[in-house]
Amino acid sequence: MSDPTVKLLVLGSGPAGYTAAIYAARAALDPVLVEGLQPGGQLTITTDVENWPGDVSVLGPDLMVRMAAQARHVGVDLVSDIVTAVDLGARPFAVTLDSGRRLWAESVVIATGAQARWLGLDSETRYRGFGVSACATCDGFFFRGKTVAVVGGGNTAVEEALFLTNFAAKVYLIHRREALRADRTNQARLFANAKVEVIWNTEVGAVEGTDVPLGVTALDLLDTRSGAARRLPVDGLFVAIGHVPATALFAGQVAMDDEGYIVTAPDSTATSVPGVFAAGDVRDKVFRQAVTAAGMGCMAALEAERFLAHDGLAEPAEERRHAVA
Ligand code: FAD
Ligand code: NAP
Repeated sequence: MSDPTVKLLVLGSGPAGYTAAIYAARAALDPVLVEGLQPGGQLTITTDVENWPGDVSVLGPDLMVRMAAQARHVGVDLVSDIVTAVDLGARPFAVTLDSGRRLWAESVVIATGAQARWLGLDSETRYRGFGVSACATCDGFFFRGKTVAVVGGGNTAVEEALFLTNFAAKVYLIHRREALRADRTNQARLFANAKVEVIWNTEVGAVEGTDVPLGVTALDLLDTRSGAARRLPVDGLFVAIGHVPATALFAGQVAMDDEGYIVTAPDSTATSVPGVFAAGDVRDKVFRQAVTAAGMGCMAALEAERFLAHDGLAEPAEERRHAVA
């Protein structure tokens, strides 16, 4: 027997997805949320979050557990599954899950976020999981007393480098330019840490390692100005060069820009398909913050509510307020 059509289906369980679902549940839209492979999203792979309003400092995974609990509390149906296919060609929209289950929805919020970008080197792929990682929180522990390198110049790279100083004896931060993109607070912390050495104007050309056991031993570095090559002995490499939006599923179905970010109407989360909304890192390459993702999740739920009310599928917010008064 197939599932009944839901009013709103939220795809993704990061700050954008949970916020959309919480607002939608409180608007009596009975939302269903598919969590995906990473319940809680990107913040589950970080430690201290110090810019989420209301918390001086909160652990990323804790914050996301709290969001999930709040979603459950307001009645969101959280589904532990992964979306493998979508058909946004006609309403109700059809969404196929990894388990084979098929969901039907009158409106959809896409909040599938973003995933780590890799350097694209064959040697990087070879040692991924064996000394090459994109998550210091997950793998830093394995490098106690060792030498590691982080590549990248943004907030993630700097925070990964700082986090790794809790374990490693030496941390190199390798950046292709001579100025970091990370914010001032993070930069100040980085430069003040005696375990960190920044290698400017340098790219990683290859990862060297052993076959048995599989493991990293060094990096082949290239000076971006002179082209000079050198070898840097390390035990591990953490790649922190940004993210790519998780939008492959929606290719050809909603409008995207040339980097794969979903395009939405100005000041709106509405995509090119009426009834389909996009919130968070999946449509934002500028701010990419938990709080902005949550804000867009809120917008998406309110816009979905308005869209459904137009079709008589949701009570307009104004009328609900009067009924409560
Ligand atoms: P994400 O958090 O990326 O969540 C995407 C969700 O979609 C996941 O639950 C995933 O499982 C799901 N999904 C993906 N594909 C599918 C699928 N096929 N089917 C179903 N579900 C799917 N921001 C801050 O404001 N402060 C910070 O301190 C901070 N620190 C960070 C530290 C790190 C290491 C990183 C990587 C990011 C950090 N950010 C920080 C950025 C912040 O995490 C993101 O901006 C935010 O998580 C984006 O939220 P989102 O909901 O759009 O997507
Ligand atoms: P980012 O800000 O896009 O930075 C990516 C970095 O990687 C840049 O320095 C970039 O170099 C470099 N890079 C990209 N491709 C590369 C390649 N092929 N080879 C070598 N270097 C490469 O990504 P991010 O650091 O992951 O941050 C993503 C978003 O999350 C940002 O908005 C960030 O502010 C946010 N975030 C916030 C916090 C916080 O507020 N505490 C923490 C983490 C993340 P160039 O500088 O030369 O382009």
